[in-house]
This record gives sequence, C-alpha cells and structure tokens, in this order.
Amino acid sequence: MRCENPVINQILDAYKPMWSLSHAIALMGWDFETYMPRKGTEERGLANSQLHMLHKDLLLNKDFVGLVESAKKPGSLSDLERGIVRILDREITKQIKIPKELTEAESLERIRGNMAWRQAREKSDFMMYAPHLKKMIEIKKQIADKIGYEKHPYDALLDTFEEELTVNDLDKVFGALTPRIQKILKKLVDSGSPYCKESKLGKSKYDIQKVDELNHAILTLLQFNMGRFRMDVSTHPFTEAMGLNDVRITTRYEGTDFKKSISSTIHEAGHALYNLQCDQSLSVTPVEGGSSLALHESQSRFWENIVGRSPPFVQLIAPLIRKQVSFVNQATDDELYLYFNNVKPDYIRVDADEVTYNLHIAIRYEIEKKIFGDELSVSEIPEFWNDRMEQLLGVRPTKDSQGVLQDTHWSNGLFGYFPTYTLGNLVSAIIASKMRKDLEGYEEDIKRGNFNPIREWLRLKIHQQGSVYAPKVLLNNTFNEGYNPDYFVTYIETKYLGS
Ligand code: MG
Repeated sequence: MRCENPVINQILDAYKPMWSLSHAIALMGWDFETYMPRKGTEERGLANSQLHMLHKDLLLNKDFVGLVESAKKPGSLSDLERGIVRILDREITKQIKIPKELTEAESLERIRGNMAWRQAREKSDFMMYAPHLKKMIEIKKQIADKIGYEKHPYDALLDTFEEELTVNDLDKVFGALTPRIQKILKKLVDSGSPYCKESKLGKSKYDIQKVDELNHAILTLLQFNMGRFRMDVSTHPFTEAMGLNDVRITTRYEGTDFKKSISSTIHEAGHALYNLQCDQSLSVTPVEGGSSLALHESQSRFWENIVGRSPPFVQLIAPLIRKQVSFVNQATDDELYLYFNNVKPDYIRVDADEVTYNLHIAIRYEIEKKIFGDELSVSEIPEFWNDRMEQLLGVRPTKDSQGVLQDTHWSNGLFGYFPTYTLGNLVSAIIASKMRKDLEGYEEDIKRGNFNPIREWLRLKIHQQGSVYAPKVLLNNTFNEGYNPDYFVTYIETKYLGS
C-alpha cells in the first residue's frame, strides 16, 4: 500500500520485516497446536522467544520510533494513516514501559505455570497450582503499574486486550446484564421450558470422519473459499491468520455431542471471515485484521449463535446432518433445534449455552477485578468462585477441575481477556438488530442458504476497515452504540421466552 504521507510510507516499509516475523510466529503457533511432534516443544519455545525479541528490537529501533513520533505531530492525516500510527504508537508505548526483566519473567512463568496448571487440573488440586498463580499475579501487578492507569490497576490490563476498556465500562455492563440474565434463566428453569430439557442427541457416538465431512459441507454452504482458508483439528479450536490471504481455523471432535463440533466450526469460521473480508489494500500493514478481541468475538458469536442456532439455519443444515449422523434420522427438525439450543446451568464455561455463558464471564470478571484491587487473595479464589457459581447459576462445583482450574487463561498470564467474550456477545446482538433493519427478511435468506447479503453487510459495516478505528470508535461510527447490553438481553428474551 502507498499513502499520501511520505512518513507513513517510510513507516510501512520499515514495518515489513516486523510483519514478516509476526507471520512466521503465527504460522509456528498454528503448527504447535496442530501437527508439531510433541518433542519439538523446547526448540519451538526457543525459536518463538527469539523471534519475539527480534520483533521487539525492530519495533523499538530508534529510527522507527522517531518516524512514528514525527507522524504523531499535528498535521493532516487520513483516517487510515491515523489508524496505522495509533496501532504502532500503542504497541511502542507499552513495550517501552514494560522492562525486559518483567517480560522475561512473565514468559518464563507462563511455561512453568501452564505446566503446573495442567497437572493441577488433572489431579483437581488447586493448591498444586496456587504458588504459580500467585507469582503470575505479582508479575501482572508490576506490569500494570509500569503501564500506568487512571483509576484501577486492572484498567491497565483490560486495555491491552480491548483498547480503552475500563472497570467503569464493565461495572456498567455486568451491573445491567447479570441480574437480567439471572431472571430469564430462573423463568426458563422454573417453567420447565422445552429449552431446558436435555436431548438424547448429545449422548450417541458419532463417526468423526463423517462429521468432518459435515463441517466441510457447512463451510461450503457458508461460501468459504478454500484457496485462502483451511480447517484442521485441535483440542481447543482457534483461528490463526498468517495474513489476509492465509487464514486457518481448527475444530474439535470429541466423539459425542456433535453440535459442539459444528458450533466450533461455525464460530471459528466467523472469526476467519473478519480477516478474509478485510480490505486487501490493508495487507501487510499494522491495521490488517480485526479492530479488537471483542469485535472479533462478535463476529464468531454472530455466526455461531445468532445465525448458527437460529431455526432457519438448523432447518437448512438438517439434511446435511441427517446424511452424516445416522441417529439424527429419528429426530424431527424441532428436536434438532432444541438440541442446538439446550439451556443448562452447568460448571464449564466453554460448554455453556448462550443464556448462561455470560454469567461465567461475570464471575471471572469479578475475581480479576478483586485480585488487582487487592481485595481477594489467591487462597480465597476457589471458595469465592464456588459461592458465586451457586449464587448466579445455581450449581456449586464439588472439585477444583469443575471450578477454578477449568480455564487456561490465568496460567498464560491472560488477565483482562475474559470480559472481551461477553462484549463480543453484546456486540453480536447489536449487529443482528441493526442488520434486521437493513436486510429485511434476512432469515429467509438463511433458510435458502443465501449468505451473500449478510456477508456483504458485515464486510461494509465492519470487516473492510480492519483496525483503522479503535473498537469504541467503530461501534459509535457504525452503529451509534457502545457495549450496550440491552440488545443482547432483548435477543435472549425474545428467543427463549418468546416475549
Ligand atoms: Mg472466539
């Protein structure tokens, strides 16, 4: 890409080797999760940290920092140019503020902590992991102090995952969301709603190869171009974009409960589409790809839940499912729909339905906020977790693996990440509401398998801009909204209570 501004062009030229390192790191990350022989772990770890260090050296190179600084001076920049400078300046500022020793301490603790967490989870023994969690929290508190914050130390960490997100924003979000979702859940459970009846379809074993064919058939239906995209298998599904023209997803096959595999595929495909539909002119620049984690998650959840679990979509794919999953032949379309939309307050976040999911996040948010506000010590976390599960979801974990040890995030130092999942859900509902106004009868299009209008709408409103705009700015410009939970609550109420 060439810009009007000569300084920006110099920046983009100097950025190319950094982009290339990120490209290689992304590819290595994908390989690590999919095909790498297990014994390669140590060598890969070394290569990975060396490439990260090279990247940091290039980013903090005097001349490069000077270029970015001079581009920040008042003058006329286009939105695109301003976006490029904003992204790089954020990255440089953070890297400068965090001393090398802290970065090293964190990456070392990540490896040790993650290993300890795996063992602790297997034995369901939080105390085995507690010293590592304590260490990671200490490191993160120091990092938060170095980055700086106005009101709450947790703000410094939130901002690293979602630009300008604060405790103040999230207190408002969860303050409005949590009690309303609890109320809906209670109504559903108390009334013995058909949504709460567990389906037999999740119990039978499926043929993995056949469900793999089914997932590929669904991707074809959603018009994924395999020339720029591929799908593989991993325990925890993810999306990795090497650039705008090599975007890869993974899915999971557990052998039973086939909806998990289908939903994972559609979820990751939603992430992938964001990158695939970004404007090609942004390729190999700092603004290629999505605006933020929450915006990215809004895309995956929009496809997974709002499209993928809707009656017309389930009807559309029912014949494909029946072809590959023989025991579904005895089930009606309605039974299949209820299977995809079963609501069950349960322990594990990643398996949660769309009604209860955000309650899991509310608990993690509360805990992280308390940790960084020095209101909760490590040893108090398991009990606090279980108490809140009982209060919000009505189930109390009886062992640590069902509770505090279930997620990998903390062992990887990802404090401040969880809330972006909920924000993604909220934004997906905003999108659906606005889309409905623009694309009258888009449910009919879904029923017919015509996804072009939806894809094009998403491309124009969100995808094509990459990360030129910060998430709050994009939401405001495009939808005249913020992280407003009202749309999501209305969506859930309408769908599950019919009101
Ligand atoms: Mg996701």
